[in-house]
Amino acid sequence: MRKKQFKAESKKLLDMMINSIYTHKEIFLRELISNASDALDKQYYNSLGEDTGLSRNEYIIRIEPDKAARTLKIIDNGCGMTEEELETNLGTIAKSGSLDFKNDNDEKKTDIEIIGQFGVGFYSAFMVSDKVVVESRANGSDQAYRWSSNGADGYYIEKCDTPAEHGTVITLYLKPDAEGEEYSEFLEEYELTSLVKKYSDYIRYPIMMNCETRVPKEKAEGEEDKPTEYETVMEDRRLNSMVPIWRKNKNEVTEEEYNGFYTEKYYDYEAPLKVIHTKNEGVPAYDSLIYVPAHAPMNYYSKDYEKGLALYSNGVMITEKCAELLPDYFNFAKGLVDSPDLSLNISRELLQHDRQLKIIAKNIEKKIKSELEKLLKDDREKYEKFFEAFGMQLKYGIYSTYGMAKENLQNLLIFKSTNEEKYVTLKEYEDRMAESQKGIYYACGETVAKIKMLPQVEAVINAGMEVLMLTNDIDEFTFKMMRDYDGKQFINVCTDSLDIGTDEDKQALEQKNTDEKDLLDFIKETLGDKVVAVKFSNRLGSHPVCLTSGSEITTEMERVLNAQPISEKIKAQLTLEINSEHAIASKLADLYENDKEKVKKYANLLYSSACLISGIPVEDPSAMSDLICELMV
Ligand code: ADP
Repeated sequence: MRKKQFKAESKKLLDMMINSIYTHKEIFLRELISNASDALDKQYYNSLGEDTGLSRNEYIIRIEPDKAARTLKIIDNGCGMTEEELETNLGTIAKSGSLDFKNDNDEKKTDIEIIGQFGVGFYSAFMVSDKVVVESRANGSDQAYRWSSNGADGYYIEKCDTPAEHGTVITLYLKPDAEGEEYSEFLEEYELTSLVKKYSDYIRYPIMMNCETRVPKEKAEGEEDKPTEYETVMEDRRLNSMVPIWRKNKNEVTEEEYNGFYTEKYYDYEAPLKVIHTKNEGVPAYDSLIYVPAHAPMNYYSKDYEKGLALYSNGVMITEKCAELLPDYFNFAKGLVDSPDLSLNISRELLQHDRQLKIIAKNIEKKIKSELEKLLKDDREKYEKFFEAFGMQLKYGIYSTYGMAKENLQNLLIFKSTNEEKYVTLKEYEDRMAESQKGIYYACGETVAKIKMLPQVEAVINAGMEVLMLTNDIDEFTFKMMRDYDGKQFINVCTDSLDIGTDEDKQALEQKNTDEKDLLDFIKETLGDKVVAVKFSNRLGSHPVCLTSGSEITTEMERVLNAQPISEKIKAQLTLEINSEHAIASKLADLYENDKEKVKKYANLLYSSACLISGIPVEDPSAMSDLICELMV
């Protein structure tokens, strides 16, 4: 018999499995059981309508530990494999995606993460075994074949006699025990039973094992009154409840089971942030099990990401991803809906118009919203984690629906605030607003630190008020779409007129702007198109200058919009504001009387430094530097 070599890719994965430091080696059992269950599904569907087909309850998965031989068998009477199938299915890795994923740029990703993210399938058997033997007979075939391998150096395929009927017997020769690695526990009834419960409880075929059972001893005649004695016998027992987790009652499901179902089904290595399990008795009746992941999946912001929930009718899957069940702004949710009121043979096109489905979708939307609101209220830390992963989607939801989703989503938004730099909700902000405050103050910038340094922000903080600090590109667009929150306008402290300062202050400023009109016009003329106006201001704290923009297109929006591939560049309408209290104001007035050329230089320099503060690139940095030096010497 000739030994065959594994394909290069398979060998890599195999090496990974053999040398695995993966702490959940136990998942091998889950993988082999799911393969058996798939094989039973295939056999069942293929033989529908045939007289020879077994009835559904005759399809069984069996687990057979043998302590003396130190082997564990997993047996099914599913479709089996032909010689060629053994060769292609077990000699070549099916899920080559797991290896593609580990490219050179990804060195940081550990093997554990890779194993955790993908179903690893058959090869996981090598995490616990020195040798694996697969004996299989394909449906309708009069010859069975044996595939055997002790891992690294290849495999053999030969003819054999078992199994007698279609199906597969996998025999694992468990590795010897070592310190901290007790492979013999996989021969223990208790361990195997709890592993099946943990990972494979909802498998729809019975998973049977011969188990020790204590039964009352039969009493001899005349001994009826004696206390009952017990003896231990071996009896077949079904280990799985076969009821899908979502059809159970909430109090029958442990957190571990909920999380286990999630991590296995959605290939996530991290437990979900929130589980939402509902049973609805109304019309339509349905069970739903929805998860909010703890982090965005890798492809979340790419075109490959498909939203949707799986749709089942009475435990049988209709479609794996039903997009209609989720609004775009909750596209991060994963899970399923099972309703007996949906017809099984409903087509994808019909689904879109199905009234029942629309009602379910509306209910689910409401439920996710209320659960998120609850999370925000009860567990702020968790909510912030959620928001950091998916908050962008909520904001985008408001923006992309032109504000239509505002009512639904506005109370789920949180923003960093100048008050303790913590996240606050709009409601919390509103509750703290001073009575005189016209609206909700915000400022935009790249980082919280940069925003806090803006002169306008400093002035508002000094006046004892709070400013929301927006650091995401989408933020300001979202506010523009919302217009207001609970009747309170959003006010950009860098652009809109603020109501800080007394009436006298305002009058004095107006007077100064009138008195010095010639100087201001001269500076405006010097700067040309760069600004639309130049004026004195009293909201700059200790800083000499700043740039403000009209509220239609702010400098932040200009930056975001111009980063898009659009042909015509968008320009914010900028005003140069000079601090009327600052020494530079009187200096300018003085120079205007005596040295107009110098005013021009000052104007350019003030403008450039204002650009720097606002995060606008200076057009000609070397000219600016020359100018500084010229004025210094
Ligand atoms: P996956 O199950 O993800 O496709 P595996 O490595 O677990 O990858 O299995 C590879 C293939 O081997 C399966 O797709 C299936 O065709 C076949 N196979 C594995 N176990 C069995 C089994 N018990 N009965 C029939 N075919 C099986």
